[in-house]
Amino acid sequence: MEKQSLVTKPLKTSRRTSRKVAHFLLAFVLLTCVLLSFDTFQESWNQSWWRKSSKKNVIFFVTDGMGPASLSLTRSFRQFSQNLSRDDILVLDQHLIGSSRTMSSSSLITDSAAGATAFSCALKSYNGAIGVDPEKQPCGTLLEAAKLRGYHTGLVVTTRITDATPAAFSSHVDYRFQEDLIAQHQLGDYPLGRMVDLMIGGGRTHFYASEDAVYGTRGSRADGRNLIKEAIDDGWSYVGNRQEFDALENGYNVSLPLLALMADYDIPFDVDRDETEYPSLEEQAMTAVNALTQATKDSDQGFFLLIEGSRIDHAGHQNDPAAQVREVLAFDKAFEAVLKYASESEVETVLISTSDHETGGLVTAKQVSKAYPEYVWYPQVLSATHHSGEYLSKLLLRFSGEDKVDFVEKTIFEKLMGIFDYTKEDTDELLNLTSIGELNDKLNGMISTRAQIGWTTHGHSAVDVNIYAYANRQKTWYRLLDNLQGNRENTDVGQFMADYLELDLQKVTQMIKKTKHSPNINTASLYHVDIDDYHNGMYDEQAL
Ligand SMILES: [Zn+2]
Repeated sequence: MEKQSLVTKPLKTSRRTSRKVAHFLLAFVLLTCVLLSFDTFQESWNQSWWRKSSKKNVIFFVTDGMGPASLSLTRSFRQFSQNLSRDDILVLDQHLIGSSRTMSSSSLITDSAAGATAFSCALKSYNGAIGVDPEKQPCGTLLEAAKLRGYHTGLVVTTRITDATPAAFSSHVDYRFQEDLIAQHQLGDYPLGRMVDLMIGGGRTHFYASEDAVYGTRGSRADGRNLIKEAIDDGWSYVGNRQEFDALENGYNVSLPLLALMADYDIPFDVDRDETEYPSLEEQAMTAVNALTQATKDSDQGFFLLIEGSRIDHAGHQNDPAAQVREVLAFDKAFEAVLKYASESEVETVLISTSDHETGGLVTAKQVSKAYPEYVWYPQVLSATHHSGEYLSKLLLRFSGEDKVDFVEKTIFEKLMGIFDYTKEDTDELLNLTSIGELNDKLNGMISTRAQIGWTTHGHSAVDVNIYAYANRQKTWYRLLDNLQGNRENTDVGQFMADYLELDLQKVTQMIKKTKHSPNINTASLYHVDIDDYHNGMYDEQAL
């Protein structure tokens, strides 16, 4: 017994000790579990819920030159050509919240440069101004301020990437024609360094000089530099044709920064676009959206992206209704795709779409005789036309066959324009015209008159433009309505985006004071130069 007790006693002690150790271990494990789960909780709070609730994407759409009449025109065209009911409306129509006044600091009628600067810097400037104030001082832009706050940034257009709208977000020059310098700023050659993560559009011409064995034949840089090569050496991925664009796999195979220049000048009108050569605006937009989504996946900040339906404006300048309705439809498709993305995104995402101004003074009516006009216009004339005036004019100028009369009448009028009631005078006029501008006017005029569509100008007008918006959070939607519902100044649109993303544009303005922005020529002489020579190259610089 003694022996036993002697033996059991220590055993009891050791049992007690091990029980204590076990309790201690249990407590330790439990505490660790609590701490760990608290950590995990905190981590998930930080990383998902909290972050997702503060992370934001802003996708800003500009329909360059699209006034309310373009919508009426396109809606009726689509109803007619697709045999849809009268209450069928565009996707964009479903998101209308207000309208915007567009005057610039120098005129009741703005140009795209001042129009875009009103959005990008949230201030009124003069016609021709690219990211500079009325005193020609560089002003901080939404894109720059967003980038400096850790957002990713992108620009998607169908015209030159150096043209006014994208330029006003990503560069600072006194006049819109300084496109060589704009390209330099866009690639980061100015005090802030590189602010743009992704660019998709046309306008390769301002990135290289004359002919280049690799990049193209129509470079126009005056300084002889090859910015494409410099960009690649600097770490940019470069895409210059459809095959390379397709390799981006809809944005899932993109290495940022990305410079995608799909044309020397403009990407062709959608009605003329060869899809084996050029992506649609929808493809460009979704490539950008997906690439920026991938890039910001693990970031606390989202992205700011500009998407422009650039050439609605060109169709307006050229008074080409058949091209314009297709441009608006192509934009509406792009908007629809991005809308679907936003509605499914876990990240708070805002879409705002507006125009910088109206172009062409378009009216869906035209008096064609002295008699009191009938109340009609004919969308079927537009659906019978298979190309833009720009495209047809180039065909005529390039024609080298024997029988030009037959070509004009059978191919141009009948086959491509669906016009059979032409006169001998129409044919003769087309045979005699030699400039693309005059040919364009004649062909587009034949379409507009037959469709009974009116144009009042080859330039812009002061008509208010529409504002459209969407948010995937209800409180943000109310905030959008509070700030942009009703009739607003164009600067209110820019100010809303700055406030929403909590951006300090003035702070950026202080940082870019030393930017080179003047054209280095006698600006006194510029006063009389048409500094607002829209889209120089609309007629004569394009490839013929
Ligand atoms: Zn314009």
